[in-house]
Amino acid sequence: MRDLHLYAQPWWVNLLLLAPAISYAHWRRTGLLLNGRKLAILALFAASFGFVEAVVVVYLRGALVATPAQQSSASTYQQALSFLAQIPQDLRTIEVCREAATMLMLISVALIAGSAAKERWAAFLWTFAVWDISYYIGLWATLRWPASLYDYDVLFLIPVPWFAQVWFPILVSTLAMLGVALSSSSAPLHDRGLGFRSRYAPPRDRDRTGFLESDRLKTLDLPEDGLLPAAAQSIEAAMQAGKTATVRLACLEFLEQASKFYKVPICGVRVLAARPLRVHEHSTTELFGDYDPQTTVIRLWMRTAVRKAVTSYGTFLSTLCHEFCHHLDFHLFRFPDSWHTRGFYERTADLYHHVRGTPRKRLFWVPVSGGRWSIDWQRTRRGG
Ligand SMILES: [Zn+2]
Repeated sequence: MRDLHLYAQPWWVNLLLLAPAISYAHWRRTGLLLNGRKLAILALFAASFGFVEAVVVVYLRGALVATPAQQSSASTYQQALSFLAQIPQDLRTIEVCREAATMLMLISVALIAGSAAKERWAAFLWTFAVWDISYYIGLWATLRWPASLYDYDVLFLIPVPWFAQVWFPILVSTLAMLGVALSSSSAPLHDRGLGFRSRYAPPRDRDRTGFLESDRLKTLDLPEDGLLPAAAQSIEAAMQAGKTATVRLACLEFLEQASKFYKVPICGVRVLAARPLRVHEHSTTELFGDYDPQTTVIRLWMRTAVRKAVTSYGTFLSTLCHEFCHHLDFHLFRFPDSWHTRGFYERTADLYHHVRGTPRKRLFWVPVSGGRWSIDWQRTRRGG
């Protein structure tokens, strides 16, 4: 057995081990909105890319090293150094550019995959890790190198060459993959199959702090310009025309303005014709809309299920505001989940009355079982 060298060189390369650990600690506290499907597609891209990367090394070695025996012999630090020394300066410059291009490719994919900075960083780590491990598998499959995990490798050339035994990058990548896989949540779709009256019970676990904060936060900052009320009026006009495509465009315009004001990533919207009717054991509920935290897409229904009548503008707009407030919970307030707390309904009401241009009514609350609250609609309508 060859010597196990605990340290990569230069010394700061060892700090890479901290990246998955610190990220994981952060994700456990705040949650991570990346689902299995996205991770699988990223893994497919990264594994293919890792193989391409390995093939580049096969060609490079084939071009630089005279005999096949030499091709698979870089196993000590000295051999790794001397292999690097064989590379002429112009090829080394090309290698540096290729490495930079590789990183840009991994970063670009991560930017598309994640909806916010945290998810983008996780998508980058995940893609990088799968790419890195596939690269070594690809090398082993084509060159039978590395022969062991103790073989030395040149990890990177930017800004100076990084050296480590192969187990080091594989350990960093495995930790990164584990961290992302264990933190990525399959946060449930919000409001699917729920009327607005359904409420979540306060969670007992680590999410409780977020829940209480959501309950406490009873106001929402509102823009001073009239852009949102104007966008809402376009939705009303589009609804009167009755075309779902036009209504969708008007909603998108509204969401664009709102996302810009709150500085959150824009969410998607789909407007569907007839509401599905869900038949439960004891009751029948009609859906108004829902919000998927994974895809950040809001779905709204324009027609009621039973009579196929066009939903009233007030109900439609209130649903849009409600679903957008779920989006804000994740991306503005960074709550680990979005609950129907008193604060949530207060914030939703702030937004709805602002965009509709109606006076803000005070909401009256009555406690119900299990620490939950329900709006007292009679008192709320009466205003006291
Ligand atoms: Zn909801």
